[in-house]
Amino acid sequence: MPPKKKTTKSVKKKAASAKKSTASKKASKVAPKKKVTAKKTAPKKAASGSAKKITKVNKSVRTPQSLRGMRDIHPKDAAIWKELFHNAENIAESYGFARLQTPILEEASLFIKSIGKGTDIIDKEMYVFDFDGNKLALQPEMTAVAVRSFINHGMHVDPQPVKMWYFSPMYRHDRPQAGRYRQFYQFGAETFGEKNPVIDAELIVAAYNFVKDCGIDAQVRVNSIGSLEDRKNYIVELVGYLRSKRSYLSEESKKRINKNPLRILDSKDEGDRMVIEDAPQIIDWLSEDSKNYFMKILEYLDELEVPYVLDPTLVRGLDYYCDTVFEIFYESHDEESNMKELALGGGGRYDGLVEMLGGQPTDGCGFSMGVDRLALILKQRQAQEGILTSKKPCVYMAHLGDQANRRMLKIIEDLRREGIQVKHNLAKASLKGQLEQASRQGCSHAFILGQKEVQDGTIIVRDMDSGSQETIDQKKIGREITKLLG
Ligand code: AMP
Repeated sequence: MPPKKKTTKSVKKKAASAKKSTASKKASKVAPKKKVTAKKTAPKKAASGSAKKITKVNKSVRTPQSLRGMRDIHPKDAAIWKELFHNAENIAESYGFARLQTPILEEASLFIKSIGKGTDIIDKEMYVFDFDGNKLALQPEMTAVAVRSFINHGMHVDPQPVKMWYFSPMYRHDRPQAGRYRQFYQFGAETFGEKNPVIDAELIVAAYNFVKDCGIDAQVRVNSIGSLEDRKNYIVELVGYLRSKRSYLSEESKKRINKNPLRILDSKDEGDRMVIEDAPQIIDWLSEDSKNYFMKILEYLDELEVPYVLDPTLVRGLDYYCDTVFEIFYESHDEESNMKELALGGGGRYDGLVEMLGGQPTDGCGFSMGVDRLALILKQRQAQEGILTSKKPCVYMAHLGDQANRRMLKIIEDLRREGIQVKHNLAKASLKGQLEQASRQGCSHAFILGQKEVQDGTIIVRDMDSGSQETIDQKKIGREITKLLG
């Protein structure tokens, strides 16, 4: 109980009446039904006066809303996000990556130089603003940020390869829709300082295994876009072909012929797709070196039994990619699913990027996975399968009366020190209410402490399914919970 403070007369009165009703319910035996009905009335009366006032005030105040395309991640979804972060951390650390954490604000030029004009991110989606005479941007992606950090910290003198991972929010002023937000999270990994097909293969496998570890089936799509020289020759051929088919292309793609023709290969427009089907394929323009490099990556993937498909139209349209590009797609087994063609992430090699941003020539390769889409799939699955909010086995600590409340606080604190987590709500006086919470949270057992148990040094253990109860010594609580939680 908090120390008594000086309060107004009316508040004192209400507090006194609430206290009386609590005291009158002192009972050593658990009889939830009766107690709840008597108790419910006290807080209602106490709250009714102030509730009216709040309504009055609320009418004249407009509550600020979260921005369009941005959203809160509700505590109800915390378990899913915790698991996603945990899987990301596990995968990254098991492949030897160390976590990089950077500010979300960067100089806008970092992204303009690296991602390149003519891309959606730079032309339409980046949040840019002037502050103190500087052009700043909220990070739309992390590869360029990881490169900046690599250069700023002189990591080229560290033992190579330098391997970093991140789990950060990204910002793109995209058209909001399911699975597409203006603030979203990416888990990614980058390897610097080594050009070897095994590095590319390791990143593809890590990205794929991350999705698998989340319990989601995925398909890897890979391609090689060759060296800068290979690509220059290919683009000349591609532009010639696209110009000859201009009238069949969408308006968006027509505009891109000169600005970013590779990006047309990614188009989802039906007319564009027909044109793309017969377009020259970059694989035919690769140098021998690039072709061999790509073949070796595929051999590693075969060796590790990672299922992949070769996708000659996959280019990932950002300026900094070379050679390997890949994407991971959701493999839904639900024919009706609206998420069949959902990209979960992608990546590739970017050997010239460190130098382009002013660092020593250093090779690089990486991936980024969209965490929000994984969360969406897991949430939909939970809803379909009717899984309870908490999948982890749990027990609930319930109390009855003031004395039991204080004693329970100490018990919970002792359990916490022992590393045992329990569910509870010490602010809830009603035993029935506490037991309802226990079953809603999927707890298998409730430990109930009443006044009699406080005096006896015992506690009741109630099986939430059968309702059967037994009494045990309070000293055995920790051991009993450990046994119940397996
Ligand atoms: P990208 O590097 O643009 O291919 O993005 C990698 C992954 O991040 C995508 O495959 C998506 O899963 C995710 N992603 C990209 N943009 C968004 C967005 N606006 N909202 C949610 N996830 C996104």
